[in-house]
Amino acid sequence: HSAAKPPPTPSPLRFSKFFQPNMRILVTGGAGFIGSHLVDKLMENEKNEVIVADNYFTGTKDNLKKWIGHPRFELIRHDVTEPLLVEVDQIYHLACPASPIFYKYNPVKTIKTNVIGTLNMLGLAKRVGARILLTSTSEVYGDPLVHPQDESYWGNVNPIGVRSCYDEGKRVAETLMFDYHRQHGIEIRVARIFNTYGPRMNIDDGRVVSNFIAQAVRGEPLTVQAPGTQTRSFCYVSDMVDGLIRLMEGVHTGPINLGNPGEFTMMELAETIKELINPNVAISSVENTPDDPRQRKPDITKAKELLGWEPKIKLHDGLPLMEGDFRTRLGKPRTN
Ligand code: NAD
Ligand code: UDP
Ligand code: UDP
Repeated sequence: HSAAKPPPTPSPLRFSKFFQPNMRILVTGGAGFIGSHLVDKLMENEKNEVIVADNYFTGTKDNLKKWIGHPRFELIRHDVTEPLLVEVDQIYHLACPASPIFYKYNPVKTIKTNVIGTLNMLGLAKRVGARILLTSTSEVYGDPLVHPQDESYWGNVNPIGVRSCYDEGKRVAETLMFDYHRQHGIEIRVARIFNTYGPRMNIDDGRVVSNFIAQAVRGEPLTVQAPGTQTRSFCYVSDMVDGLIRLMEGVHTGPINLGNPGEFTMMELAETIKELINPNVAISSVENTPDDPRQRKPDITKAKELLGWEPKIKLHDGLPLMEGDFRTRLGKPRTN
């Protein structure tokens, strides 16, 4: 018998008799913070063709300007709540506002993006046989009653609060992923991303790291929301992108936590940013918003064991890497 295994069949529309086709990858939300760093990394591989679909709600073309016009790159203005017809092998589905002030701005749209948007991307994955990765969130754990959070924890989420459009939206998105997997055999990957930071964060998106760095650069007081003892764990964006690609390329569906287990109180974060960027600024205590989780720290045992992944960049080293980008965009060069 000649038992040579045939090579994997590319999607019929992309069949080529002579060449291994490139890997064609759709990144929804690719004009955003994490998405644009992911695109940079994917474009480094000459076998990858990258298509970004983004409606520019919180992202910007500027984040992708170095790729516009590149033969392996395509940018589409598209809202994922509408159907999308493209032929791709992989889908990184990131499209969704991620910061509380943006997702609360139009909560109904946030729900639609999470539910209808994810349904459309799954319908697309089903039609073309693509593998699809969802960027879910640590917010699916809500205000967690176990600490640190591992993937088996079901969460403590308010279904009717002002954050629910995001956390419950992502929970439904995860459910859709697993139902398409079970019912239609779609290849899925689910990442639960914990707070991520780095260059290109939206300056005005209200998230704590971008707020504090912009405030320090502008010489304004750092606004610690009361009580200041609430904790978060911050992952530098290059580590996050590395984790997402490992998850996509690996064999595990997840959900898998991706985040940096280094845990800090918001007061500690303010003090660190003050020390690193502007020792002259004040730290002020301001009112908090409802349903603010009191503590959050990923258990990344699964990511370590199944993906061989753990973050490399410590908070103290990552924060200065953002400073230059924020100074450039704010027009405030370092004076000393
Ligand atoms: P971001 O706001 O910078 O990027 C989101 C992108 O999605 C933007 O470019 C935006 O324009 C686009 N978008 C929003 N709604 C859309 C729609 N209906 N159709 C098409 N495009 C749409 O946020 P980010 O921090 O890069 O987050 C990316 C993903 O990672 C999101 O799914 C978010 O939920 C998830 N995540 C991020 C963090 C974090 O700390 N940054 C934490 C957990 C999860
Ligand atoms: N869809 C899409 N692109 C495709 C295929 C489907 O956007 O290439 C959308 C489609 O419009 C539908 C959703 O994905 O709203 C779910 O598709 P599926 O085929 O799973 O369900 P059905 O169309 O039968 O409701
Ligand atoms: N926070 C703060 N000052 C700010 C913005 C946020 O102290 O200017 C706090 C907020 O109360 C929360 C933490 O920082 O406890 C993280 O908030 P963020 O909106 O960045 O992310 P998420 O709540 O989604 O983790």
